[in-house]
Amino acid sequence: MQQLTAETFDQNARAALNDPVLHGALRNLADNFVTRRQNAIASVDDWEGLREKARAIKEETLLHLDEYLSQFVENAEKAGAKIHWARDGKEACQIVIDLVKNRDARMVVKAKSMAGEEIHLNEALERSGIEPVETDLGEWIIQLAGETPSHIVVPAIHKTKEQIADIFVEKVGIEKTDNVDVLTKTTRRILRERFAEAEVGISGVNFGVAETGTILILENEGNIRLTTSLTKTHIAVMGIEKVIPKFADLDVFLKLLPRSGTGQRLTAYQSLITGVKKNAADAGPEDVHIVLMDNGRSRMLGHPVTRQSLACIRCGACLNACPVYQQVGGHAYGSVYPGPIGAVITPQLIGISKAKQLPYASSLCGACKEVCPVKIDIPELLLHLRAEITDGTAGGSANNPERKRRFAESLAFKMYGKAWSGQFSYGLGTKAARIMQKLVVRDGKIGKASGLIAKLLPPLGAWTAWRDAPAVAPRSFREQWKDGLDKQG
Ligand code: SF4
Repeated sequence: MQQLTAETFDQNARAALNDPVLHGALRNLADNFVTRRQNAIASVDDWEGLREKARAIKEETLLHLDEYLSQFVENAEKAGAKIHWARDGKEACQIVIDLVKNRDARMVVKAKSMAGEEIHLNEALERSGIEPVETDLGEWIIQLAGETPSHIVVPAIHKTKEQIADIFVEKVGIEKTDNVDVLTKTTRRILRERFAEAEVGISGVNFGVAETGTILILENEGNIRLTTSLTKTHIAVMGIEKVIPKFADLDVFLKLLPRSGTGQRLTAYQSLITGVKKNAADAGPEDVHIVLMDNGRSRMLGHPVTRQSLACIRCGACLNACPVYQQVGGHAYGSVYPGPIGAVITPQLIGISKAKQLPYASSLCGACKEVCPVKIDIPELLLHLRAEITDGTAGGSANNPERKRRFAESLAFKMYGKAWSGQFSYGLGTKAARIMQKLVVRDGKIGKASGLIAKLLPPLGAWTAWRDAPAVAPRSFREQWKDGLDKQG
């Protein structure tokens, strides 16, 4: 499958809208996750209070991130873990590759890791002659299919059972079956063999506790537990924003994350790892490495609006609630972070000029903000990034057609705002609009502007390409009111 890019979101989305198989697969989102989330949050007495607490913990941590990271590093090293700092994805990949090569390993087992996806770790490992084997079922399926994840929590949500069965026939060589039990047992048999062979396990991190130097990884299949305890070396790739101050803070996030993401009260496995194993007879790795990765995060820290992007706990609830994601799926975003959170994180990670369509991939309905367990104001972030594009602080050169188009839209709204802010200009504006709209009004609505009008008034053409706007009333309220008074004498 050809990998899509964020630069072509508009075209990707159009293609996805015409894909009935994708829509069938995505219906599971609305049918399963949204309802399950509602039931799961009903089991918490004070859900709103819990969200407030989570937001407060994240804000406090992000404001003093340097201090909490130092504390985390000190305590993790005391427990025997080795810390590595990576400024960007390239450095992070190289650190991992060097660690794997030091072990003379040619294959690694990997647990699902968004940070690893973000830096394209699998491709980097393969280029260095190391075979990465994904061990999360969904992640393994899309690895076999040669694709990227299309959802933060459920990477293969876009695949139907029939498509998965076809992948197994082609890549694993079994007889075609849609019996889930057979497919699961086949997966388990193959992955168990790989676990037994592997010397090195690679995982992500959900939370790093500064107070103890512990990392916490959540999952439902047991694969992370095997990845981190059967292997001799465990390498965890962790974004610097994953740190939280205290062990007790986990209580808040362990209630919020599974409920928001999969509608579970608790994830099945919660692996807490504090350094290396203490006795030779214990299970667990003798060698633990934590790669602390920046990769654009410091930049986000610098502004109060963009800083909140770093509070994300990757639960995926905003994707499930988003009407745009529900229609186009994850691949259209051309990024490992799809949906509303992807639309704000990706431009900040890869540069807004490479992902300038993403902040517009939203109806600004606010459903994402409504469900976010850490109360990230995604619409505010989207508007912030849109403003960066239109005011010229981002978006490349002055000749960039996207910026010109957005500039024209912004200018039209500024003129609209000016005209509507004074009585005289408002009266004059509505009179002029009444005369001019005759060219475009059909059945009382300003429908699709086309031809010369769309060319002369590009914002009107763009606005009415997909939606109708109501026509200006033939007589203003003032005129009607005045007539009424005159009639009353
Ligand atoms: S932005 Fe909020 S809802 Fe979306 S993935 Fe992050 S924490 Fe979850």
